[in-house]
Amino acid sequence: MRNLGRIVSSVAEDLVVVVSAMGKTTNAMEHMVRAYFDGEKDVCFRSFEDVRSRHLQIADELSGQSSDFYTELERWFEKLKNKLEEPASLNFDFEYDQIVFYGEMFSSTIVSGYLNSKGIENRWLDVRKVLKTNEQYREAEVDWDLSAKLMKKEIDFSRNRIYVTQGFIGGTINNLSTTLGREGSDYTSAVLGYVFDAGHTAIWKDVPGILNADPRWYPDTKKINEISYREAIELAFYGAQVIHPKTIKPLENKRIPLLVNSFMRPELPGTRIHKIEGPLRLPPVYILKKDQVLMTISPKDFSFIVEDNLSEIFNIFSKRRVKINMMHNSAINFSVCMNGVDPLDELLKELSEKYVVKYNDDLELVTVRHYTDEAIKNILKGKEIIDSQVSRNTARYVVRKSEWKF
Ligand code: ASP
Ligand code: MG
Repeated sequence: MRNLGRIVSSVAEDLVVVVSAMGKTTNAMEHMVRAYFDGEKDVCFRSFEDVRSRHLQIADELSGQSSDFYTELERWFEKLKNKLEEPASLNFDFEYDQIVFYGEMFSSTIVSGYLNSKGIENRWLDVRKVLKTNEQYREAEVDWDLSAKLMKKEIDFSRNRIYVTQGFIGGTINNLSTTLGREGSDYTSAVLGYVFDAGHTAIWKDVPGILNADPRWYPDTKKINEISYREAIELAFYGAQVIHPKTIKPLENKRIPLLVNSFMRPELPGTRIHKIEGPLRLPPVYILKKDQVLMTISPKDFSFIVEDNLSEIFNIFSKRRVKINMMHNSAINFSVCMNGVDPLDELLKELSEKYVVKYNDDLELVTVRHYTDEAIKNILKGKEIIDSQVSRNTARYVVRKSEWKF
């Protein structure tokens, strides 16, 4: 929070600060909404109290209990509490969005209040008023035209130079809350950057920029100084978790540079994602996706897998929000590597009506982009390879889960 204060005060331009929920809060909110939906009141309110006390403690440490924003924060918790006391509807995704968004309300209230208390004058904005979406709860799509219009009306830099608002969440035209998909705050800042033709959009992280691997997993990481929009989209697609995949496109369309910086070391240059002419030499980039399922699907009557079957299978996947990472087909088999599905047995049951389904879980998917023979040898040491797909730039391996040793 204090680093953020320093960073914001070092910016001379007009600024919108997009705030995500504080560390681990969204996970706690997910836990809370699950318990609420399942009617487990005790579990639900225990997690409510955890989140509440953590936030109030931070607000207290920053400015004391008599500050305006401490009271404001308590008011948000009061609202959430009232919601949790009402009976849940039958629509989990809807309830998720009506509850999880509070995480961003808490954090943005603290940020805005803290900055004001430090003399960094800013205006707090409820982003749900201006970022309008459809009603696809938990993965809402932005209505660009309407949002741009409302944002330009609400955000007037001649009145306030700095605005503080929330990432990840939006509102429907009926003023119900929506969310844009986990890690969606980056996307919100891209939407705002696009609408206001920003000089740049910066994402502040706890890593020094985009690295060629996740440092919690891979010991010898290198920072990437610059990459093209295209490459950033590819990396996000393969599962590099630094930026939300949807973030890049709007910025690319207006050629707005996206900077990934570290709030721990704000003075250091991070990674610059921008328009790059010609090829750029990058080191091998390693991306690990845990909790993978490899499923092999074949028609019960041993007929060929044809487009009809595929379309039916994809429909089932899309309905159940299965995230496919890699696929192959042969004459009688269609195999897919997907993120772990919850609940898996329901998916298996539905597919099994017409298909023979075999699956393997306890797997991981490792991608090496810009691979070299040496990079692949290094990463696959001691691994049991279950499946693979290698193209000119990218090598991907489904391996059995075991400890990673480098
Ligand atoms: N708080 C949300 C999440 O954890 C959004 C974000 O962090 O970007 O998914
Ligand atoms: Mg978050």
